[in-house]
Amino acid sequence: MLAIRERLAADQAQLVQALGLASCDARLEAQLLMAAALDVNRAWLLAHDDEMLAPPVAARYTSWLKHRLTGEPIAYIFGEKEFYGLMFKVSPAVLIPRPETELLVELALARIPVDRPCRVLDLGTGSGIIAITLAKLRPLAELVAVDVSPEALELAQANARNLKADNVQFIESDWFSALNSVEKFDVIVSNPPYIAANDLHLTQGDLRFEPINALAAGGSGRVALEVLIQTAARHLKPEGWLLLEHGYDQGEYTRNALAVAGFGETQTYPDLARVDRVSIG
Ligand code: GLN
Repeated sequence: MLAIRERLAADQAQLVQALGLASCDARLEAQLLMAAALDVNRAWLLAHDDEMLAPPVAARYTSWLKHRLTGEPIAYIFGEKEFYGLMFKVSPAVLIPRPETELLVELALARIPVDRPCRVLDLGTGSGIIAITLAKLRPLAELVAVDVSPEALELAQANARNLKADNVQFIESDWFSALNSVEKFDVIVSNPPYIAANDLHLTQGDLRFEPINALAAGGSGRVALEVLIQTAARHLKPEGWLLLEHGYDQGEYTRNALAVAGFGETQTYPDLARVDRVSIG
């Protein structure tokens, strides 16, 4: 039997070999799986890594590690992922929340008043992270969150219930199709699919396990952005805002398309990796 420390070292090496992870990432991942199996935090784990593992803990850890060695993302193995300080359930029916989407939420928060009602639409809500985070931080806002996938909506509704966000209404809809164009919104946000269908990234890493409909948008990667930009104005109030997440090389395209669609003021913002990530009209 190995102590925790030896176990982690051996499995770090396995993760490097199986997934091509950098050795610091592999080390962190082995620690995360072990800490979760023990139901402790990493600080506790590192302070007790000379201990032996009890058989049920070892079994849980080994089963998770086996999944991870096939490439399955940790968020799907645990069934949850943190976003903007809140914990969301995730499943392979939805995209895994990413830190770059926190930029979209921040920019939307700056356009949703704290002290009065505001109607906000989230298109392609997935696990609901954007709509639910906005709803929690702006309790007076009325959120509408749509998705074309019933599985995603079910998960998003479970997240809204768990996080007690009762100001979100969920609707099954292919973009705007099920929405009544008489009811206009102050703010429309979306993290749509924006990767080109032949992009090799789709065959690598976590992306292989994520729903392709949530990632890829035609040969250009622009199909969803195009539909959203062309249709959004009909569903926006005159002073309303459209906020779109997009790829690092789609800022200029998105700003131009917004201008062509009649949006007066447009701007692109970089994410923490300093690449274009969100454009606003
Ligand atoms: N930013 C994600 C990635 O490149 C893609 C998310 C999306 O398509 N909306 O991994």
